[in-house]
Amino acid sequence: MARTTAKTHEADQALREALEANGQRFTEQRAAVFRYLCGNTEHPTADDIYAGVRGALPDISLATVYKALETLVSCGLASKLSFGDGSARFDPCADDHCHSRCLVCGAVRDVPSLPVPGSMVGGRLSDDFQVQGVRLEVVGYCRSCTPVST
Ligand code: ZN
Ligand code: MN
Repeated sequence: MARTTAKTHEADQALREALEANGQRFTEQRAAVFRYLCGNTEHPTADDIYAGVRGALPDISLATVYKALETLVSCGLASKLSFGDGSARFDPCADDHCHSRCLVCGAVRDVPSLPVPGSMVGGRLSDDFQVQGVRLEVVGYCRSCTPVST
């Protein structure tokens, strides 16, 4: 128990420093969203995160969760995965990495076996395009959504 508390305290301290380095304040709401996201490999939506933090902060609103997520993303503490249908998911890992996305249920997973061409970042694709990051998404069917062939 003491260990968990120390760990939470350490994570909060790291969050506080990262927020302050970006001119942002540490708030309980931002901390709750950050704690929920840390170690989460499911790439949750804002709604998932809202449902997840209400246990700890019953008065938090969905709008506050959205704002906290925006702040974490702007501080480089998380990344936002936006999809063509306007939906978004959040990732505690802000480094470039590849994802797979199920076309049926929308599940998003990391694909560590697929390396991102890191040498591209900061370079140029052509004379008129400067690369800021690489987002690679592989689409298909997850195990539970794979169509049964007849
Ligand atoms: Zn699926
Ligand atoms: Mn990811």
